[in-house]
Amino acid sequence: MLIVGRLSEERVMKCVICHSSHIEDKVVDERVWAGTDVVLAPCQALVCNNCGERYYSRQTMQHLEEVEARIRARTLALETVGRVLRIATQPAPALAVCESRPDYTTQSPEPSDNGGQAAQE
Ligand SMILES: [Zn+2]
Repeated sequence: MLIVGRLSEERVMKCVICHSSHIEDKVVDERVWAGTDVVLAPCQALVCNNCGERYYSRQTMQHLEEVEARIRARTLALETVGRVLRIATQPAPALAVCESRPDYTTQSPEPSDNGGQAAQE
């Protein structure tokens, strides 16, 4: 009886943001910040298919708090899956993200060879 009541409650659930009823129960990668690092923590959430808003159960919130605590205590096995980049506040941000060519960053860009460079200082 309680389970049926909870199910019917979920069926008529509408998104608080866009009022859509296209809400799906799925596993999402929630981002947990650890200093300047980001840890992706897979967890169950109700996701609005219209606007992407996520709704978490109390159980999931507790799980995420536990994940946060375990990251701080360094008791979680983590693997690197990518990098977090930010638009550089210093000049020539285009050079900073070109790490696929390592030699590109070591040599200073001299505009003498190719006169086609538009941006100088
Ligand atoms: Zn929505």
